[in-house]
Amino acid sequence: VYDVLVVGGGPAGAAAAIYAARKGIRTGLVAERFGGQVMDTVGIENFISVPYTEGPKLSAALEQHVKEYGVDIITGQRAANVSRYSNIAVALESGATLKSKSVILATGARWRELGVPGEAEYRTKGVAYCPHCDGPFFKGKKVAVIGGGNSGIEAAIDLAGIVEHVTVLEFADTLRADDVLVKKAKSLRNVDIITSAQTTEVIGDGSKVTGLAYKDRNSGEQKQLALAGIFVQIGLVPNTGFLKESEIELTRFGEVIVDTKGATSMPGVFAAGDATTVPYKQIIISMGTGATAALSAFDYLIRQSSD
Ligand code: FAD
Repeated sequence: VYDVLVVGGGPAGAAAAIYAARKGIRTGLVAERFGGQVMDTVGIENFISVPYTEGPKLSAALEQHVKEYGVDIITGQRAANVSRYSNIAVALESGATLKSKSVILATGARWRELGVPGEAEYRTKGVAYCPHCDGPFFKGKKVAVIGGGNSGIEAAIDLAGIVEHVTVLEFADTLRADDVLVKKAKSLRNVDIITSAQTTEVIGDGSKVTGLAYKDRNSGEQKQLALAGIFVQIGLVPNTGFLKESEIELTRFGEVIVDTKGATSMPGVFAAGDATTVPYKQIIISMGTGATAALSAFDYLIRQSSD
């Protein structure tokens, strides 16, 4: 039986494991893949105090740091459910069950993909998902934002201050973003908005994005735009499907609902990072919330033993 079992090995899980292990308590970490989304990232320029690093390098450093604390690391395993008896049980897809006095869920999220030809090929070569992360790489260039919800319009407003021109493409005939954001985007001289536009292909020259093709859903006409970057903003999907059968409360988007201490609705279960309701999905924020969840788990444990 662990004192703290962390589920997830991204920035949130790594930070939680280190903070827990530093309290001298028995800490385990189970993850499908160490590093999480960071493994899919090339340049990282907003990890404060490190002006530039790359995903695989940061992942290796996270793993090295966790290993220095004797955390019991189990990779290549996916959690299938979480339930609470006298301890908390984390069932794995393999059929095994891990038991712990407290659990920290840090299973992250994934960007929803367009699923069109060229998207996978040009990922990190012009196809991007995070404007806060990758916007500055397109300084002075033309980009598109796919998706006219709040995140798409926020991205367009954000990018308009950095890049030469932004075209927003929305599949539906109206934008779903809040009015105040739409008004702001429409007031910017270097932002164009195209509705009823179905993106059909990411076009490139073999090494980088050069444009995209879309179908005008009113006329049926195929059109093309010349671009250096495409920001896909059609949603972030939390990796919390395995909690649907549990008693842990999720939002309708599947985010684990946490309070300011990272506590979930199940006593002894805490959560951190992109899988949760914590606003803004970033490495530094995931690490901070991972630390918070671990300190809260420790606080919970010391109160249990004094009962
Ligand atoms: P994740 O990194 O998603 O890690 C989740 C962990 O949980 C992984 O170990 C995964 O294997 C594991 N897992 C998932 N499901 C299960 C399960 N059922 N059982 C067991 N384990 C499971 N942020 C920045 O701050 N700066 C950037 O420059 C930046 N660039 C980015 C570029 C890209 C392409 C992407 C995709 C994201 C980028 N981000 C960036 C966002 C950042 O990567 C995330 O905010 C951060 O990784 C979230 O950390 P996390 O630990 O919450 O989740």
